[in-house]
Amino acid sequence: MKTCTKCKTEQPFKSFYKKAAAQDGLTSHCKSCAAVYHAEYNKDNREARAAYQAKYHKDNREARAAYKAERRSDPANHLRCKTHSAFNGGLRKATKHNNGVKPVINPKEKELMLDFLAAARTLSADTGIEFEVDHIIPLSKGGAHSLSNMQIITRVDNIAKANKLNFHDYTQRPSYPRPEDIVACEVSAAA
Ligand SMILES: [Zn+2]
Repeated sequence: MKTCTKCKTEQPFKSFYKKAAAQDGLTSHCKSCAAVYHAEYNKDNREARAAYQAKYHKDNREARAAYKAERRSDPANHLRCKTHSAFNGGLRKATKHNNGVKPVINPKEKELMLDFLAAARTLSADTGIEFEVDHIIPLSKGGAHSLSNMQIITRVDNIAKANKLNFHDYTQRPSYPRPEDIVACEVSAAA
């Protein structure tokens, strides 16, 4: 038996947490006192944190709004934001359909995937037709979030395809650019 220094009641040893540094190897407060302490600590901390965040947001509202507006007004940034959010959206979806395991995508492939996503947007802007990047094998059907599983198709076709696996194979739609075409363009442009 041991007496808790907080509530002063005598309790069996199992009512105390282990603490290697203590002489008897147990904490001085009993488990129920520790629970009360932690609940209050968390509550106080949560409130302090929330108050700090609220104040920070309030103090920085204008600066933040100006910063966001500036970023939005830059077309290159706008494109970057859109392609990154599409990339990350695919990553989230792939993770969800992969039992919560996030797929590993190497930086080079990520870069090419971002270029491909950007190419679809550029193509839409140039043609006035809405193009989207589609996963050939849908992510929901276990398809990979990878360059080789991506194709650029029109929004209309993408909607028609939905998650159907039996939609026209991309090889039957030669009018659509494939990732390798985009990559080839980039390489030749750089050369
Ligand atoms: Zn106690």
